[in-house]
Amino acid sequence: MTDAPAASQWDIGDDDHPHEECGVVGVWGSPDAAALTALGLHALQHRGQEAAGIVSLAPQGQFHAHKGRGLVGDNFSNAAVIAGLPGHAALGHNRYATTGETALRNVQPLYADFEFGGFAVAHNGNLTNAHVLKRALVRRGCLFQSTTDSEVFIHLIAISLYSTVMDRLIDALKQVQGAYSLVALHNGALIGARDPLGVRPLVLGKLAAGGFVLSSETCGLDIVGADFVRDVEPGEIVLIDDAGVRSIRPFARPASPRFCIFEYIYFARPDSIVEGTPVYDTRKRIGAELARESGVAADVIVPVPDSGVPAAMGYAAEAGIPFELGIIRNHYVGRTFIEPTDQIRNLGVKLKHSANRSMIEGKRVVLVDDSIVRGTTSRKIVEMVRQAGATEVHMRISSPPTTHSCFYGIDTPERSKLLAAKHDVAEMARIIGADSLGFISLDGLYRALGRPGRDAAAPAYCDACFTGDYAIPLLDQQDNSERPLPLLQVANR
Ligand code: AMP
Repeated sequence: MTDAPAASQWDIGDDDHPHEECGVVGVWGSPDAAALTALGLHALQHRGQEAAGIVSLAPQGQFHAHKGRGLVGDNFSNAAVIAGLPGHAALGHNRYATTGETALRNVQPLYADFEFGGFAVAHNGNLTNAHVLKRALVRRGCLFQSTTDSEVFIHLIAISLYSTVMDRLIDALKQVQGAYSLVALHNGALIGARDPLGVRPLVLGKLAAGGFVLSSETCGLDIVGADFVRDVEPGEIVLIDDAGVRSIRPFARPASPRFCIFEYIYFARPDSIVEGTPVYDTRKRIGAELARESGVAADVIVPVPDSGVPAAMGYAAEAGIPFELGIIRNHYVGRTFIEPTDQIRNLGVKLKHSANRSMIEGKRVVLVDDSIVRGTTSRKIVEMVRQAGATEVHMRISSPPTTHSCFYGIDTPERSKLLAAKHDVAEMARIIGADSLGFISLDGLYRALGRPGRDAAAPAYCDACFTGDYAIPLLDQQDNSERPLPLLQVANR
């Protein structure tokens, strides 16, 4: 989901708008549905820290909701709150935003009363034609209540000429472009859906006591003791009700799905299993590949915590150089990435990381981090490690250079702010103040993911942030005009 800046309802596709990662959970068939959903959201907290919400479905068919800004623990630690969310089904959402509007009305799940009853939806991802759709919907008389792109799902379902909820949802999904993992709830069922290329993750689990769980990642299943059943497949809709799980395939199976490669590198929790492989193992393999590709003589391998840790372990093991925690992270300050101004962001890095001098002084240090976005973190960390007495500081990055913005739900600044969009590796090394800088190659990254390399004709992942190869059209980016658009046509299926 993405917010438009408050200033204009048309700005959804603005280049500098906040993109959001998010976490979604859904539970069907448990008397503790809301509590389990809250636990799932706790496990998915890394996917969004700005706001959290849960909607539950009570046995008599009423929906109950509780949403708030802040962490899951800030909003769902009170027994009275959970007691106010009765029922055997619930869904929840963690929201991640950078700048832009943080109004409560944008906090998900979104809920609407339709002719067929109540409907709640939670969305992880980013639609690439939300601007265009919203303009057409508003012309048609739809009254938007929020500035998040996810609200187009609600209006497309509302105006659909199909009669069943499922047909209306399919009708809506056929009109949106972009990346989405959706969890939705109506009176008769819990629904999960992934976009046709499967850019964002969604997994299905089963509770031992009966009932099913949908979660962005398997760590959301583990925390509630649910067994992993399978990934929801790209383009698949799963319908979960008291009869069990049914699979609906409104889209042709993609010849080549495009799961987000950055989930492996940075975003997913290391204990999650993604596409059958533990993310932790994958990150270690990426680190080992990085060591093979750009090894350098050194005394110690130091991760930039926490995101660089597994890759640094893999690097150190492959290079045969000791791994040490030469930087200590303070876990009680927020992510520096989300701070609004460069000045505060710089200060944030110092707040967040400090040098562990005894592990660094007099040593040739290799720092390992997952990515360089603006370069702010790297520059500060390199300087800090030098000040702590390192004789050489080499930076190694477990992703290729981030040269392009993500429009599919990972938070990246506009392209002009990406260090690698403007500078080559040698210049970047000079800017961050490192003695040398090395990124894993794109082919090396694919090799670490068990592929022979990147097949340019049919890449196995969405790697647009490293290649600019945008597999889903960026319609909002191409449509900056205010020219009148035809009214929305309801698609015939
Ligand atoms: P920067 O300081 O702008 O170069 O950002 C790089 C740092 O931000 C790295 O240490 C990453 O771990 C982290 N990072 C990369 N991508 C994201 C993201 N989408 N959200 C939050 N943090 C990120």
